[in-house]
Amino acid sequence: MSREHFDVVVIGAGLSGIGAGYRLQTRCPGKRYVILEARQEIGGTWDLFRYPGVRSDSDMFTLGYPFRPWKEARAIADGQAILKYISETACDFGIDRHIRCQHRVSSACWSSEETRWRLEVQNGANGETVEYTCDFLYGCTGYYRYEAGYEPGFPGAEGFRGEFVHPQHWPEDLDYAGKQVVVIGSGATAVTLVPAMARTAGHVAMLQRSPSYILSVPAHDRIADWARRRLPENAAHRMLRWKNILISLGIYQLSRRAPGLMRRLLRQGAAKSLPPGYEIGRHFNPKYEPWDQRLCLVPDADLFRAIRAGRASVVTGQIDSFTEHGVRLESGQELEADIIVSATGLQMLALGGVRLTVDGTLVNLGDPYVYKGVMLSNVPNFAFCVGYTNASWTLRADLSSIFVCRLLKHMDRRGYRVCRPACNPESLEARPLLDLTSGYVQRAAANIPKQAVKKPWRIRQNYILDMLTMRLGRIEDGVLKFGAAVRARRAEMRERTPTAYSADD
Ligand SMILES: Cc1cc2nc3c(=O)[nH]c(=O)nc-3n(C[C@H](O)[C@H](O)[C@H](O)COP(=O)(O)OP(=O)(O)OC[C@H]3O[C@@H](n4cnc5c(N)ncnc54)[C@H](O)[C@@H]3O)c2cc1C
Repeated sequence: MSREHFDVVVIGAGLSGIGAGYRLQTRCPGKRYVILEARQEIGGTWDLFRYPGVRSDSDMFTLGYPFRPWKEARAIADGQAILKYISETACDFGIDRHIRCQHRVSSACWSSEETRWRLEVQNGANGETVEYTCDFLYGCTGYYRYEAGYEPGFPGAEGFRGEFVHPQHWPEDLDYAGKQVVVIGSGATAVTLVPAMARTAGHVAMLQRSPSYILSVPAHDRIADWARRRLPENAAHRMLRWKNILISLGIYQLSRRAPGLMRRLLRQGAAKSLPPGYEIGRHFNPKYEPWDQRLCLVPDADLFRAIRAGRASVVTGQIDSFTEHGVRLESGQELEADIIVSATGLQMLALGGVRLTVDGTLVNLGDPYVYKGVMLSNVPNFAFCVGYTNASWTLRADLSSIFVCRLLKHMDRRGYRVCRPACNPESLEARPLLDLTSGYVQRAAANIPKQAVKKPWRIRQNYILDMLTMRLGRIEDGVLKFGAAVRARRAEMRERTPTAYSADD
């Protein structure tokens, strides 16, 4: 088996992995790093999802990198534009030279004796298993299973005569022009698909068990046009980023502190674009409070406009079963369909399914606590990257990479080889990692790491506070424990007391 050693191995070449590459090569230029990517192409989410209308639901000034301005006209961008931006970033900064596609990491074993990670990697190009070793492991694997989306299993599905598709595996040649379509779901994917398909489909019905909050935002940011005309490129990007960070933080805080007011505002926003007399109370008035689940954004009210134009409709009810020709609801209502799309979500997956062991003991990823949202309790020389649930992913992902670089530099300066967030689990009060009531979060809660009530084990969905901690907070905070390599320490001890150690110590 071939073996190669790197200072840092990054797993995943999506938005986060490319950002990690940039931070590593600019902040830790002496480090040899490689990015191992399971798929044939880079881009992660933005390469995988190909359903009609696929787009961001946050603005690109914050979903994009702080170090590479977003130059397109639309602030809410389509999937292809985001993929192009990620690929160009990798190419422009030479990050692509560090990426090895078709390299799936299946296991990572930490050895305190060797002070390094040993990774088992499947090379998809030739079917071989190869070994990589590294001093520090950084997981940028996203948060869901790539192989399959979530599919609740509908009674009678096998008897349905039309096409049944999941957005995660969109058939390239699916022709829906003039067809009757039922989209099951009410989340970000459903509200994207419905207006996009409604442009050419005969009719699209969004079938939801319960409603979500939907906020219309302008697809085109006029302030961005103004700033780009008057300011240098980087200054305009910085200004627009901060504008949007503050707006999204403001909306989140308002939702948490004054949910009644936010509820009314969201309802009024929907009413403005929907036909007069529309049953908003039934179809757009969720039972939960705003931001108990992710807020769905729609650009230029496209979903509401499709409903107003009669090209789309919303049906709220429980599915009883599929029939040969569509879906039957518990109410007895039947929806005819040539195509049914199951926009029922993702399957969350921690660390891309990598099997993690520390000195031979398996780390059950549901057990550790997260340290500053970037490391795992008692797992040495390891970090991972997750984004915000209430703001653009990249805001937090980039802070994680900056923190990792600070940590690596600190260790080099002090001559440390090992770092580990130390914790006694009994002293902490466990909380779920993600503060959302969404089905996909609840289903996975037992298999993803936990947070606690107290710092530094708490995840704050607040970019400004996190920025202070991750960029400026003390690295040696008493929780993060450091050490020299075991071998180096033993050699040192042997030198001091040569007779006290036998050769095989
Ligand atoms: C349809 C959709 C729309 C979204 N829209 C937004 C949005 O508007 N705003 C927002 O903030 N967030 C959004 N998100 C969340 C989105 O996933 C993040 O914005 C971002 O793309 C995550 O980037 P990532 O690199 O961390 O993960 P991913 O994009 O998931 O990339 C992870 C990469 O790691 C690779 N990988 C995983 N496991 C392994 C392994 N074992 N070995 C090797 N490689 C591995 C994968 O193949 C993949 O390429 C959206 C998600 C989806 C699904």
